[in-house]
Amino acid sequence: MPDTFTDEQRQFLQLLRLPVPGEAPPEMAPAKPSVKAVSAVPNRSVSAQTTSVSASMRPAETPVMPPESLPRPVEEGVSVLRNAVPASATLSTAVAPTPVRSTSPLSKAEALQAPVLATQASPSSADPQRITRIATLDWRDLNSMVSTCQACPLGETRKHAVFGAGNPRGSWLFVGEAPGAEEDRRGEAFVGRAGQLLDNMLRAMGLSREKDVYIANILKCRPPNNRDPLGPEVQACMPYLQRQIDLLQTRVIVALGRFAAQGLLQVDTPLSQLRGTTQHYQGIPLIVTYHPAYLLRNPIDKRKVWEDLKRALRVFAELQN
Ligand code: URA
Repeated sequence: MPDTFTDEQRQFLQLLRLPVPGEAPPEMAPAKPSVKAVSAVPNRSVSAQTTSVSASMRPAETPVMPPESLPRPVEEGVSVLRNAVPASATLSTAVAPTPVRSTSPLSKAEALQAPVLATQASPSSADPQRITRIATLDWRDLNSMVSTCQACPLGETRKHAVFGAGNPRGSWLFVGEAPGAEEDRRGEAFVGRAGQLLDNMLRAMGLSREKDVYIANILKCRPPNNRDPLGPEVQACMPYLQRQIDLLQTRVIVALGRFAAQGLLQVDTPLSQLRGTTQHYQGIPLIVTYHPAYLLRNPIDKRKVWEDLKRALRVFAELQN
């Protein structure tokens, strides 16, 4: 950890209600955006994928099964694809049928360890006609289909499917993992504690979800007990996110955590290697950073997040030139 902090880092830590190490805790004042949000939407350009790799780093241990009210336990270092799609899959192959594990709530350890076996994928979720249909829906019909979706067992356990939140006309897309308890209750993305932190992160970037940002998740329904998403659930849900991205005017995507990053990019590269690079999803620049729920448990990594968010702002600014 550095002994000194730049003004920018200090401002970010203070905005996120974190003490600056070695200094007295700050009085919390609303932060002034450091970067002006730009809402113009030039044409998308497809550029080569950048693959520089950041210094490796391992996240701290996470609790196995938190209480319902806590944010989802995001384990940032492990491959999403352990029980999801193969690294070679494309989005179209990623929706191929895969055997599913039983629906009984899994502990985090089980969800990560278990081979993806069993009996429960809805055969309809991989139905090519379903996927083709999703790819033709407009925003309203897509929302309506998501709200009644039963393509995987999460359709039975959710209270509300969570389509997304924010401004669909915004130039930014932030992608999280799956709704938590509060989001499930309210039917809106990132409204719990992790959502508050995400709003602070947006504010630090000079952005707001009302104006500049749309927020979506890899899964539209909450996994029971906040366990990790399973491969077949991701496969069943990805066509929705893909269609959302087709319809949005996104200029830059920020993937929050490994499920979002690995799910969108269809890789099993560790988050630590994806951070610090500019990736692309269908030609749209994609920046990877930690999930806010992980940051709530590992606040020291917020400084790294700020570096990632600055990269995203730089990439966005370059698109304006
Ligand atoms: N965590 C997520 O990944 N998404 C939400 O909507 C809420 C918490």
